[in-house]
Amino acid sequence: MDNVTYKDLFAKISTYIHNLNDQERIYRAYLLADEKHKGQMRKSGDPYISHPLHVAIILAELHVGPDTIIAGLLHDVVEDTDTVLDQIAELFGDDVAGMVDGVTKLTKMKFTSLEQKQAENHQKMLLAMGKDIRVIVVKLADRLHNIRTIDAQSEEKRARICRETLEIYAPLAHRLGMFKIKAELEDRSLRYTDPEMFKKIEADISENTSARLENIDHIIDQIREYLKEEKVSNFNIKGRVKNIYSIYKKMINQHKDFEDIYDVLAIRIIVDTIDNCYRVLGIIHANYTPVPKRFKDYIAVPKPNMYQSLHTTVISSDGLTFEVQIRTKEMDDVAELGIAAHWAYKENVAYSKEKEQFEIAQKLKWYADLLKFNEEDSEEADAKTFVDSIRKDILTTSVYVYTPTGDVIDLPKGATPLDLAYKIHTELGNTMVGAIVNKHIVPIDYELQNGDIVSIRTNKNSSGPNIRWLNIAKTTHARHKIKSFLNKLNRDVLYDSGKKIVEEEFQSQKIFSYDLKDDFVSECFGKNNINTVADLYVEIAKGTLSEKTVVNKYIGIAKHDKESIIQKSIDKANKMLQSSSETGIVVEGLKNPQLKLAVCCNPVPGDPIVGYVTKGSGIVVHHSKCRNIRNFSEERLIKLNWGNNITRKYPVLLKIQAMQNVQLLGEIMNTLSSLNISTSSLNVKNNQNLETIIKIKILVSNTIELEKVLANLNKIPAISNILRDNV
Ligand code: MN
Repeated sequence: MDNVTYKDLFAKISTYIHNLNDQERIYRAYLLADEKHKGQMRKSGDPYISHPLHVAIILAELHVGPDTIIAGLLHDVVEDTDTVLDQIAELFGDDVAGMVDGVTKLTKMKFTSLEQKQAENHQKMLLAMGKDIRVIVVKLADRLHNIRTIDAQSEEKRARICRETLEIYAPLAHRLGMFKIKAELEDRSLRYTDPEMFKKIEADISENTSARLENIDHIIDQIREYLKEEKVSNFNIKGRVKNIYSIYKKMINQHKDFEDIYDVLAIRIIVDTIDNCYRVLGIIHANYTPVPKRFKDYIAVPKPNMYQSLHTTVISSDGLTFEVQIRTKEMDDVAELGIAAHWAYKENVAYSKEKEQFEIAQKLKWYADLLKFNEEDSEEADAKTFVDSIRKDILTTSVYVYTPTGDVIDLPKGATPLDLAYKIHTELGNTMVGAIVNKHIVPIDYELQNGDIVSIRTNKNSSGPNIRWLNIAKTTHARHKIKSFLNKLNRDVLYDSGKKIVEEEFQSQKIFSYDLKDDFVSECFGKNNINTVADLYVEIAKGTLSEKTVVNKYIGIAKHDKESIIQKSIDKANKMLQSSSETGIVVEGLKNPQLKLAVCCNPVPGDPIVGYVTKGSGIVVHHSKCRNIRNFSEERLIKLNWGNNITRKYPVLLKIQAMQNVQLLGEIMNTLSSLNISTSSLNVKNNQNLETIIKIKILVSNTIELEKVLANLNKIPAISNILRDNV
């Protein structure tokens, strides 16, 4: 049984809220909540009022102002009782009513799915948070208490709440720098979303770290001595174990084993001035060996959530690796409490949520992004897209880069210069033509790395976004902007851009001449209501049709046509060969000798030739450079000459080496037919080196004609070499 009472809350608030009027307002809020929730029970069996009381206590521990405490006490009365917002506004003012509204779920609307319902609620909360940041602080306190008491919920609900917490609330707490709340939300959620890993890491920590913790105690003593020797005063050292979820994330994201995570153990040294931070760092590095590339100066360059600290990883003389964090007291407060530390309640200072919003937007770049988002996209996009873009683009950012003027911009992992351009300004994205990263030109799909200095190259005459940008952009925001640009384009622009996309796709497939016709389009895409080449280009530019599909269809059909034409010409050539039996060769001293042309080297008139006298099958005529002759006995070779008046055609086998290219065969066939050359056989092989070997048997009258054929085939760019087989 949970016996929390108003007294417990009062004990917390009276330490920093002394104004009697404020204390009385808080008490009245408690009375109203108590009366409204009377008779309601939590699943745990506790009276309902214990929940808002706990939420208010969590808030009081963050030293928030009286209005926020009141909103915490009343946060469930609109959702769960007959109270309406107007009553709250009348009794406690618009600010309190606004906060309560921000955390109240939408109930009157009909939702198509649970997912959509969740998205609409998140959207509502994020919009409210853009107007008043205290909304999220109340929501986080609410969620923290719910997670602390989640055991009472059904398994299905537990899993859902924990997933939602890891996806949206813990990242929000992280972005607000509220480390303590973030770590607790994460660890308590992981227990239910991945119970096995949770237990494993928990066991690993207690097994492996108890020994290490002892060592750490020893090292802390050592450091204390070193600091005293160097006359550093006013410092405070503590050891800590990283929270389970961050170990979990490192193991999952970096595929590491527990043993490979260096910073499971960390020592935190808190000093009084920034100068002393760097001094202490020097002392640490003088006494322990630093691990290369592990030093980070978050004092000079704070994290986007305002976190400041020096981090370094070092190895002790007995081989223990540990992280050291060095920072001032103020930095430590910010690290633990985030914005709550910056905006802790100050009595007798007039509060204005607009002023606070402005100040936070100055300090927290992502909050400024959120405000911009709320302004620009909340009406255009549906709830799911809206929440997704905030979740993916703002809450899970992990890469930060610099503009040439030194502004820090954070983006999700995998983001490209395109995402950066759209994040800075829509117009910058729309006119972007490239980017310069660390003084080097990079393609627009370059993956940005931490610390990159990026400037965006633009050109007012650029054709603007095209459909392929949608695959390059990683952020929902940039994709959304690209899509709306494309939708607004007029047909002419779409036509040109689609035509260009198709052209480039053909080129990437090494096809340099093609002829798209309306017939082809209506045959292939008529069922999609695309009947002309012009329609086709427009649809491709809009992204409704993929250029790959079109080009592949075209190649398929063209190939089919080509193959049947080739087959016909081969058949014709073979008939020609069969009908001519004369070889056209003269053997001195013999009339009508039994002659056969060798099939290995295929000699043609004009070639130097020799005859090989076989046993029983006459004389076989070879090219005099035929490789096979080397193996023949010389006494059986006789000299031969070509006769005059030769009318027949001779087969010759060519071996063509070329770059793989779908257009190649067509170009070869075109060349041959323009020279009126028949083909009698064809064999195409592609090897792994993107090379094609084509063996083609053509019919020629003599070497003069053959030379002409070779000269013309050699003009085809993809062909690298042509050989006569066996010669
Ligand atoms: Mn609640």
